[in-house]
Amino acid sequence: MSGIIAGNSRSEQQLFELLKTIPDENILCFLSTESGDETLSGLPVLPYEEGILLYRSGKVDHFYITPGEKLKADATAYTFLRLGVAESDIWYVSQDYDITPFFERRELSYLEYQVADNCNMNCSSCSHYSNLIKGNVLSDYESTRNGFLKLKKYVDNICLIRVLGGEPLLNPDLDKYIAMNREIFPYSRIEIVTNGILVRSMPDHLIRSIKDNGIVMNISFYPAMKEKMAEVTAHLDSLNIPYFVSPMINEFCKVTDPSGSQNSADSFKKCTWRYCTMLRDDRLGLCAFSFLTKYFNEYYKEFHLPESGSFSLNDPDLTSEKIMRRLNTPIEFCSYCKQPGDPCEWKHGPAGSGIPRDIIIDQP
Ligand code: SF4
Ligand code: SF4
Repeated sequence: MSGIIAGNSRSEQQLFELLKTIPDENILCFLSTESGDETLSGLPVLPYEEGILLYRSGKVDHFYITPGEKLKADATAYTFLRLGVAESDIWYVSQDYDITPFFERRELSYLEYQVADNCNMNCSSCSHYSNLIKGNVLSDYESTRNGFLKLKKYVDNICLIRVLGGEPLLNPDLDKYIAMNREIFPYSRIEIVTNGILVRSMPDHLIRSIKDNGIVMNISFYPAMKEKMAEVTAHLDSLNIPYFVSPMINEFCKVTDPSGSQNSADSFKKCTWRYCTMLRDDRLGLCAFSFLTKYFNEYYKEFHLPESGSFSLNDPDLTSEKIMRRLNTPIEFCSYCKQPGDPCEWKHGPAGSGIPRDIIIDQP
């Protein structure tokens, strides 16, 4: 049997060392989207197109996909399927090297959930519609925990869990949420995604929980924090809390198209958010729009965009495989979602205020 390893990062190199020990398994090459190394561990590193040509010529039997450093497993499999690779020839290798057919895996690359729907930054083109919300709208801890426990029945590991908002530091119980995540998914990387405004006023119990549970602070850097970010990072340094700061975000992009005239499959194919799986209570959604469109509809009463796109974890017929397939299928909102979106300048305003031209795509 001849195989190809998709990717050429350290984890794929380690996979190669493991596969070498399997009798009758002959790995031909690694694949890479970037030009760089020509060989790795003595094997050629080829562009993806060449890997597909080898498969079509019958020289390759199957592909191995790992979560990789960029967590692109789903996107890679989707591309292989579109290019005619048989589903049975795509194998997934989990973080602890469990090899399964791709859709039978029990590992999610990524999961996000919100602990506060509102935000204290109120970016005018917020893709989670947080700026349209007035007052605190916080998640319910027990319902969220229940959702994670139900998910655990189908998923053994989540490579990356992101705790989001709105602004997650607005939730006074954030310490409990991250401890709960660590308890249920002990091997996940867990990040709190924050705009940084409240980092310097984090209470002691939250700081303790962040450190005890190995959480990383992921700071989105908006122009409003230009003068303050050095103090934020100095504070995290003094606490010995790991963090990273995004490059300054001067530009947003608007994707909402109330006409619903986008080509759903095309938007899904081009979308960089399509594997931003979101958990909300005991439901799983393909992306944030599966849950948050209701805020758009409540605010702009003249529109009614589809609020579907999530499914219940209580369905008695649900299986891990059904979950993985649903998370690789466009939702109704994809027809209302322009990908790539229209760029617009970052700005912010008061909570609970928005105007259509800041959130709706530009008209042709
Ligand atoms: S910081 Fe801006 S983009 Fe992020 S959740 Fe708040 S309003 Fe939305
Ligand atoms: S609705 Fe579809 S196209 Fe839009 S972000 Fe979600 S997955 Fe992507």
